[in-house]
Amino acid sequence: MAQLSDDCFAFGGPMMSVDEAVAIIAARVTAVHEIEAVSLGEADGRVLAGDIRAPLPLPPFTNSAVDGYAVRGGDLPQGEEKAFQIVGRVQAGASAGEAIQPGHAVRIFTGAPMPAGADTVFMQEDVRIDDAGRVVVPAGLKRGANVRPAGEDIALGHAALRAGRRLRPQDVALAAAFGLTHVEVTRRLRVAVFSTGNELVSPGAARAVAQLFDSNRFMLAAMLARLGCEVSDLGIIRDDRASLANGLKKVAGSHDLILTTGGVSTGEEDHVKSSVESAGSLVLWRMAIKPGRPVAMGIIGGTPLIGLPGNPVASFVTFVHVVRPTVLALAGATQQPLMPMPVRAAFAYRKKIGRREYVRVVLRAGDGGMLEATKFPREGAGLLSSLVDTDGLVELGEEITAVEPGQIVGFLSYASLM
Ligand code: AMP
Ligand code: MG
Repeated sequence: MAQLSDDCFAFGGPMMSVDEAVAIIAARVTAVHEIEAVSLGEADGRVLAGDIRAPLPLPPFTNSAVDGYAVRGGDLPQGEEKAFQIVGRVQAGASAGEAIQPGHAVRIFTGAPMPAGADTVFMQEDVRIDDAGRVVVPAGLKRGANVRPAGEDIALGHAALRAGRRLRPQDVALAAAFGLTHVEVTRRLRVAVFSTGNELVSPGAARAVAQLFDSNRFMLAAMLARLGCEVSDLGIIRDDRASLANGLKKVAGSHDLILTTGGVSTGEEDHVKSSVESAGSLVLWRMAIKPGRPVAMGIIGGTPLIGLPGNPVASFVTFVHVVRPTVLALAGATQQPLMPMPVRAAFAYRKKIGRREYVRVVLRAGDGGMLEATKFPREGAGLLSSLVDTDGLVELGEEITAVEPGQIVGFLSYASLM
């Protein structure tokens, strides 16, 4: 398991910025070191353990980019069209045959190897065949046109995929193009998730009048799964310090990360703080972020713990800023800074300076093709509909105090966050 020293998240200041939190996590969390080989079919989303260098150039041999006629560059017509005798035919997958002689052309197809001596291909759409069966090509084509030289995509030995990359479908394609059947990745993280709160029951259980079905646990488990984690669902723990401390101790040794939701505020019935203090060590981070509230970071028997707030929207937003970078660091993945895209605000908004805020918005195509963000009409951190019925978050930086309609703001799609 990932071992962390007890003071690894300690922080003295009163209010922590999102950037400070991410920097502390990235600097102090060390990656799991177990590596496994997975087949290409299982590689998507996994974190590459070492660099992959090109074992062959891509394309591996010089070939035609089009269906047409290959000729020698020295033969290209100057000023007016020119007729060539057709002396051969090379299909994709076939060998290139003999070297091409001056004044000759070879019928060639996309992906077929270039005959020796030929370096230019006329597209079949640009030529005609004359009565003598010769191919007549126009003047004006540049030497080298319509040819893909060996290695033009990737040179032999190039570090094409770097350690720490979360593999995407196109990365898997590149590994396949190199002829690899397996890639070495860090093992999946094991993350324990539980909810806290006497008011919660699991879907399927009997719900008393003053109870809610637990929703956060399922949201967080799904977000973790998207980040490539194996999730242990540990259910709901009651608002009771002893049960919480026991639950935490039980899972610490066998997981890389413990994630809880609810009970991290400083009310009398918020027991995450005190139970982590009794089972391990804890710091409470008050992050300068809205929606959000205190987030607990702790270490129990060497295993990091993150306690997220209970309100669903606060839980979602703090997951993105605290859990996501922690999971990436533990998995050995390169941090992927969030990259807000410019969109036009279709709303007015006032906010406090010094705090980062996230506004839930719907996107639509506005005038002139620019995307326009419409704010969800209500702001409560408990409104699940505000996450369900929107496309993403507009990020308003610490320095911003107001947004006027028409202003350009940064948009983060939900898909980009996981
Ligand atoms: P807490 O952070 O425990 O003070 O909870 C804040 C609010 O979030 C309360 O209204 C809780 O009922 C609600 N809440 C806490 N945990 C969950 C959960 N797992 N699913 C849905 N709502 C929750
Ligand atoms: Mg609670």
